[in-house]
Amino acid sequence: MEEEIKDFFNRIVETLFPSGVTCFLCGEEVWDDKHVLCNMCEKEVKFPSKFCLRCGTPLHSLADYCLTCKNNKRYFAMARAPLVYKDKVAGAIKRFKYENKRYMAKYFAKFMAEEFERNKNEIGEIDFLIPVPLHEEKEKERGFNQSKLLADELSKMIGIPVLDGNLIRVKNTQTQTELSYKERQENLEKAFKVLNWREIKGKRIVLIDDVLTTGSTLSHCAHVLSNSGAAAVYALTAATTDSEREDD
Ligand SMILES: [Zn+2]
Ligand SMILES: [Zn+2]
Repeated sequence: MEEEIKDFFNRIVETLFPSGVTCFLCGEEVWDDKHVLCNMCEKEVKFPSKFCLRCGTPLHSLADYCLTCKNNKRYFAMARAPLVYKDKVAGAIKRFKYENKRYMAKYFAKFMAEEFERNKNEIGEIDFLIPVPLHEEKEKERGFNQSKLLADELSKMIGIPVLDGNLIRVKNTQTQTELSYKERQENLEKAFKVLNWREIKGKRIVLIDDVLTTGSTLSHCAHVLSNSGAAAVYALTAATTDSEREDD
């Protein structure tokens, strides 16, 4: 009898406070399932108030633009991200990409949807979300394109369709992390291609990717889309690296 009472109370507690709802960054239990972060992580991921007006990376000076944007032509009108790529956020994105945690796409997309809303006036009407493509072999190897998953989840939240398969990656670029900015540029040269320009011409587009590192991938994609007649190209990523990254 005692066991039954205990069981009964446990079930009530479980109904009122369901377990298994955890913070997607640290794994702590979250009592309110409307939130995907615990209180601590929520405070930790607060985006810095000062950031590059062009690429959205956090700035530590009074400048309006980061050095990369100051010194290089950027083909996207504006790039934004709701999270900074470091600590727990970096860990979560790595789990999402390399440990096949596809369900995490909707958590990141929730932040991206909020970021999109914040910039809606400046961005204006948008025709398509275009995920940054992976090379075919790489997508096969990973089993999915993380940018496509993010675009699909975001699309459900903000009601803008995804255009996938038109912008493609034609050359398997080597791993970018070890390269300088200039080497990345050369490496990415001619890596992207539009298959059908008629679908792109006159359209207002938001490119979607997981992380903005130097922004050169997004800039090259935007360049290719502009050359195909896109009216405007913006970029939205789940996270951005800090402007004081080493390769600046
Ligand atoms: Zn947490
Ligand atoms: Zn910048």
